[in-house]
Amino acid sequence: MNDRQDTTDADGERPARRDFIRSMIEEDLAAGRNGGVVQTRFPPEPNGYLHIGHGKAIALNFAIAREYGGRCNLRFDDTNPAAEEDEFVEAIQEDIRWLGYRWDGEVRFTSSYFETLYRWAEGLIRKGVAYVCDLSPEETRQMRGTITSPGQNSPYRDRTPEENLELFRRMRAGEFEDGACTLRAKIDMASPNLNLRDPVLYRILRARHHRTGDAWCIYPMYDWAHGQSDAIEGVTHSLCSLEFENHRPLYDWFLDHIDLEPGAPRPRQTEFARLNLTYTVLAKRQLRRLVEEGHVSGWDDPRMPTIRGLRRRGYTPTAVRTFLEGVGVAKFNSTVDMVVLENALREEQNRLAERRMAVLRPIELVIENYPEDGEEFLEAHNNPEDEGAGTREVPFSRTLFIERSDFRESAPRKYHRLAPGKEVRLRYAYYVTCTGFDTDPETGEVVRVRCTYDPETRGGDSADGRKVRGTIHWVSARHAFTAPVRLYDHLFSVPNPMDVPEGGDLLDHLNPASLEVLENAKLEPALRELAPGTLVQFERHGYFCLDTVDSSPGSPVFHRAVALRDSWAKLEKKLGAKPSGSGGAP
Ligand code: ATP
Ligand code: MG
Repeated sequence: MNDRQDTTDADGERPARRDFIRSMIEEDLAAGRNGGVVQTRFPPEPNGYLHIGHGKAIALNFAIAREYGGRCNLRFDDTNPAAEEDEFVEAIQEDIRWLGYRWDGEVRFTSSYFETLYRWAEGLIRKGVAYVCDLSPEETRQMRGTITSPGQNSPYRDRTPEENLELFRRMRAGEFEDGACTLRAKIDMASPNLNLRDPVLYRILRARHHRTGDAWCIYPMYDWAHGQSDAIEGVTHSLCSLEFENHRPLYDWFLDHIDLEPGAPRPRQTEFARLNLTYTVLAKRQLRRLVEEGHVSGWDDPRMPTIRGLRRRGYTPTAVRTFLEGVGVAKFNSTVDMVVLENALREEQNRLAERRMAVLRPIELVIENYPEDGEEFLEAHNNPEDEGAGTREVPFSRTLFIERSDFRESAPRKYHRLAPGKEVRLRYAYYVTCTGFDTDPETGEVVRVRCTYDPETRGGDSADGRKVRGTIHWVSARHAFTAPVRLYDHLFSVPNPMDVPEGGDLLDHLNPASLEVLENAKLEPALRELAPGTLVQFERHGYFCLDTVDSSPGSPVFHRAVALRDSWAKLEKKLGAKPSGSGGAP
């Protein structure tokens, strides 16, 4: 369910788009809460690269701050020294900047608040609501109970505040082994909410922290740090994904029991549904597995749903933002079709991208009545959607390459491309009529298509008003250059790869054909000048770019960011042909 309602914006200031989060914020503002301030934050753990799911949280937090004249912080929730690295801290900032969002003020770190958090923990001990517990992690887990049965009190639960304070200070001073004891909140071991069953606040861990180094050997748990870090920063609206819903009572308990500055805004947590996309996974742990086990070439593999992957794939920040701000905010988990993301890029690039001709699976086409050494330059529109994009000259000669799938030895009904006796238009060039074809004597495979052209049809229009049904693209064999072109398909072969049957593995759903490399693609000469990071439309094939990682001067590698909406694919299927990947009809 989508809670978004589109309403007309009367005064032109408030966003025209409402959802339950914006409605809540507007109520708070109307009631004068938080002194009319709106403060949000994006709080990543620096333990991996951002994926498009994080993008949703980023877009939401930054957009809300912008729309209500508020502030949005970037805070690294760096409570786990074992998994966190500066590399991720840098990469996450770069990805957020690339998306086009700017955080307010300095980058924040939960680790900057370790001392305050420690002081608050001592405060809980003094109030008799936190204790040092000597149970092992295993015992703690066993005594926690289950959703259907209550937990058991720890035998250390009734230590006095004095004893607890002394023990906690000794924990900090490094007098105990890793894992020897923990600090726990004293809440309720029978609570139906497992998060309230005396959660651990601190554990002993001798691990070097990426920012605090060896200053600490006790580290706060994420739950103990998260809500209070929001409070320290003056966050008014803590927006987080639904899995934190049943942590909210715990966060509220913490805020009720610590000594917040009088008058400081108390963060209000609101949960929204995570973004899920079909045919991929949006979970760092699973993505890391794909990288570590070598199923993709890295976090920036163009098939990855990471921000880096999308960027390398050719996605523009504007297209990604259009998608993120358009999917809306809902309270219930749902899955967005990958097509919605792809369409954001298609729709944008249809307006922006220049057109070029590229033959991905070439077969020779010889124009028998064209002069042996003839050569001419034909004018081609760079972008029919944009007059200002101008035209370019495309070389034409007697021997061309066309797509193998644009020729059939015998044409089925409704097949409007080349076949013996059929006439088609060569885009921007001439009408040609197929006169025959040559086959390899050994394999029987067609190696060359023969045709004649009508010189009266230069530019692609016949003088006598004769119509042809098909238009195909081509490149001049003599002028084209050869380069590898990579085509991508979904990383997973099923829409919901996380639905793994009992005993199965997510990776069973990997799509073995997610990458196809065409080594022998023939590209029109203008593509030699393509700047890295620029998308062009290969006519009938989709939007392509230079691969920024694997290209080198003189040896470009191209790949497809997204296919065109593929009307031919359906027709192709109806005709019972092999999928040709030749893209949509012009
Ligand atoms: P993952 O589950 O992929 O490991 P995470 O939630 O552990 O992600 P964090 O670094 O803790 O990653 O996430 C930072 C913020 O991004 C959190 O507020 C989290 O709620 C939000 N977030 C993460 N994944 C999604 C998603 N798929 N959709 C919306 N928000 C998300
Ligand atoms: Mg997390």
